[in-house]
Amino acid sequence: MAQVALITGSTSGIGLGIARALASKGRSILITGFGNDQLIHKHKTEIERYCLHKCSSTIFNYNVPVTYIGGDLSREDDVIGICNQVRSHYPGGVDILVNNAERTQTDNVHGFRILNSFNFFHSAICEYSLLLLFFFQGFQFISPVEDFPLDKWNSMISVMLTAPFLLTQNLLPGMRTKGWGRIINISSVHGHVASINKSAYVTAKHGIQGLTKVVALETARSGVTCNAICPGWVSTELFEKQVDEISEQRGISWQDAKEVLLEKHPSKECTTMEQVGEAVNFICSSACDNMTGSSLVLDGGWTAV
Ligand code: NAD
Repeated sequence: MAQVALITGSTSGIGLGIARALASKGRSILITGFGNDQLIHKHKTEIERYCLHKCSSTIFNYNVPVTYIGGDLSREDDVIGICNQVRSHYPGGVDILVNNAERTQTDNVHGFRILNSFNFFHSAICEYSLLLLFFFQGFQFISPVEDFPLDKWNSMISVMLTAPFLLTQNLLPGMRTKGWGRIINISSVHGHVASINKSAYVTAKHGIQGLTKVVALETARSGVTCNAICPGWVSTELFEKQVDEISEQRGISWQDAKEVLLEKHPSKECTTMEQVGEAVNFICSSACDNMTGSSLVLDGGWTAV
């Protein structure tokens, strides 16, 4: 029986990369996240095809099903609804839970900045480019702590901290029954260090580090492990668009623009979505049977400085 993996926030970016990587190893995939029917159908088909392409000679042995489960992770009822739907598709629950979704916002352009941008960069971005990017991707709310609105705080904490807690609480018993499980929390370099104006994000990511350790201790000797992955910059579509913007606005080459964004990465390279996906597969391998409560930091040396 193929293992079942639920990846939250897998309708774009890193979550999609993780879903592809897990599918390439023959796992049954449950994807979640926002998106219209057309987009979700495209991703489902693409993950299935990717898997078939990767395993061309054993295509029929894998037969990886990809199922979409909708829901807003900022709503407790929806999170419980997702768990119920998981069990209606797979009564034994999941073998692998990847808590990846990130709360991005699209309701107030003026209050938002491009996802994961740094302060020096914010001032260089004109409102026009913000508006352009607004239509393609989500934004992460940033503000000094004195002005950080409670509703923004609550929505970010609910998706990035409370939802992983509830999903773990509801899906862990199934893993215990199986005697094997992997809970993988996609944290961030911001689970280890802070940046200004990001109180909710940094708090959520430091919080998920704590949850990871507690769950690791509580599941020790059960066959279930709980670990975090902490990327620095990841070369998602949004990152590439930001490089394009800086390059155009400053009249500098694409490579120079990329280095502006990668100021914090001594390696001057982004982590790729594929690398995050492979890190997830590594944690799911027997090499990591005795690794729990750990953080795999993929930050190009950011936190080594
Ligand atoms: P993304 O914006 O591309 O994807 C976020 C996903 O979460 C989408 O599928 C979206 O639909 C879903 N989502 C958002 N709000 C939701 C809600 N309320 N309910 C259900 N689903 C919701 O993000 P990404 O850049 O791929 O980031 C994925 C994870 O990686 C996040 O936890 C993020 O903090 C972490 N991370 C990203 C980077 C980076 O450079 N992109 C760096 C470090 C850590």
